[in-house]
Amino acid sequence: MKKILAIVLAVAMIASVAMLAGCGQSKQNDAAATADSAKETLTMATNAYFPPYEYYEGDKIIGIDAEVAQAIADKLGMELKIVDIEFDSIITGVQTGKYDMGMAGMTVTDERKQSVDFSDSYATGIQSVIVPENSPITSVDDILAEGATYKVGVQLSTTGDIYISDDLGDAAAERVTQFQTGNDAVAALSSGKVDAVIIDNEPAKSYVAASTGLKILDTEYVSEDYAICFAKDNTALKDKVNGALKELIADGTVKGIVDKYISAK
Ligand code: GLN
Repeated sequence: MKKILAIVLAVAMIASVAMLAGCGQSKQNDAAATADSAKETLTMATNAYFPPYEYYEGDKIIGIDAEVAQAIADKLGMELKIVDIEFDSIITGVQTGKYDMGMAGMTVTDERKQSVDFSDSYATGIQSVIVPENSPITSVDDILAEGATYKVGVQLSTTGDIYISDDLGDAAAERVTQFQTGNDAVAALSSGKVDAVIIDNEPAKSYVAASTGLKILDTEYVSEDYAICFAKDNTALKDKVNGALKELIADGTVKGIVDKYISAK
């Protein structure tokens, strides 16, 4: 009987030691979880169909913007969260505070500056023209020429859309088709629904490489600066991000990321 009691006691002791150890373990996990969730989140709105700045690799969004944003978040001790939305909704989402910042190969323009604030520029872009290989179009001037009827595809609300729609004036309604993504615009070009696509040069290169029978014209339309946008009343975050960005530009991190995605020319 004594023996049985001893065994029961021993088992109970082992069990309680194990329980205590278990408690300690779960406490540690809790502590780690608290530490992680205590990290402030930096929510970045983007449109992940803009290679090599942002695009999907499996279900992960990668690219120049994703990596620069991660480097900024690391420097600031923040947890980066990337949210993929329509390009057209980024500025409003940032303005209303739904997202902390917008980073989407976004060009700094005077008009956008009225709605949002921009960081320093971290990259440059060019508006290029994609046409079929046998196209008679040799420059934007051919599209804008008196009497021309060429139809142009663009990504809605991008600078390509804004500039060509401005330049075509009244004719824009009939001659400019706005697509939700650059990919859709290029698909329309491949199927002959439009005669040219105006879009940033780096995604233009990816799209042309992925299709057959398309080329990018040598003549550039407009050259521009990319920056991160913030709500106008969020100067504290803008200044913090800008400080981190300045250091990452100065120590060559940003250049390293750009070169990794765009083979150094
Ligand atoms: N650079 C262009 C703009 O800001 C296009 C950006 C994009 O399509 N992601 O309008």
